[in-house]
Amino acid sequence: MCDAECPFCGSRKKKTREHRIPKSWKPYLHLVPEVVSTVAVKGVIGDPSGSSRSQLDVQYGGICAECNNGWLRELDEAAMARMLNLARFMTQEIPAGEVLPVMRSVVRAALMTAWGKRDIGAYPAASFVEFFETRLPPSGAYVFMGFTDWFSMHAAGHHALWPVEEPGGAHLVSWGLDRLFIVVIFPKDGDQVSATEVASSLRKRAKGLLKQVWPNPTGRRLKIPSQNAHRIDREVVSGLTQIKPLLFGEEPLVFNLDPDRTTARYDGMSERELIDTYVTRPSKRPPEL
Ligand SMILES: [Zn+2]
Repeated sequence: MCDAECPFCGSRKKKTREHRIPKSWKPYLHLVPEVVSTVAVKGVIGDPSGSSRSQLDVQYGGICAECNNGWLRELDEAAMARMLNLARFMTQEIPAGEVLPVMRSVVRAALMTAWGKRDIGAYPAASFVEFFETRLPPSGAYVFMGFTDWFSMHAAGHHALWPVEEPGGAHLVSWGLDRLFIVVIFPKDGDQVSATEVASSLRKRAKGLLKQVWPNPTGRRLKIPSQNAHRIDREVVSGLTQIKPLLFGEEPLVFNLDPDRTTARYDGMSERELIDTYVTRPSKRPPEL
C-alpha cells in the first residue's frame, strides 16, 4: 500500500486507517450493534451484508499518517463539542463563528465516506486536493442538515453518484449522527453545474426538513430545523439522498432489506424494544458549549 497516493496530499508514504467519524466521539453517541451495507449499481440493489461493529468503528485505509494524525484530527477536535451537542439534540444552533469548523469536520467525514465507498464507481478526487490545500469546503460543495426522530439513519454513511460511466455529474454523501441528519454534495469530475442542480432540487424537495448550511452567504448563525423531524424516515431519506430522483424525479430505490440473519434475530420486536435491547446508550454527556 506504500506506493498508492494519499487522496488528500498525494504522499506515497506509509498509509493508515482513518475513522469515518472520530473514535473519540464514541462514548457520546448511541451505538448500533450491527452495520448493514447495501450496494446498488445502476439501479440494481445487491445483497445486503452485515458486520457486527458499531457505526463508530467504521474506518478506511489509504490515508497517509501525516494527514490522519495531523490536520484531519485537528479539524474534528475543533468541531467536537458543537457536533456532539447537535447530534444529541441539545442545541439546534451553530453560531456564526463555529460554522466553518463544523463544515470542515462534516466535509472530512463526507470525503472519507466517498473514499471508503469508491467501489460504486468514483470518488470526488479534486475536492480532496482542494480541501487539503485550502482547508475550506471545496468549490461546488453543498451541505444540508436537519433533525430526524429516526436516529442514526444511514449511520455508516451512504454514497451515491451519477452518472456511473460518463464524466461529470455529482456525488452525494449522507449519514445520521444520532438525531442529526447530514447530506453533502460534491461535483463529480469538477462538474459544478450538476452539483448546483442537485443542490437546488434538494433545497426544493427538502423544504422544512433539511436546511442548506453551506454555502452560507449571510454569514449569520444557523438554526437547524426540527419541526418535521418525525417525517424524515427511511423512505423520505431515500428520495433526498439519491441523485436521479433529485434530478429527474425518478422513484428512489428504498434500501429496506436486511440480511436474513439480522431479520431473524430482530423479528417480531417493536422499534422501542429493538432500541432498548440492542442500542448501546451514550456513557458521557457532550462537552459544555
Ligand atoms: Zn496525506
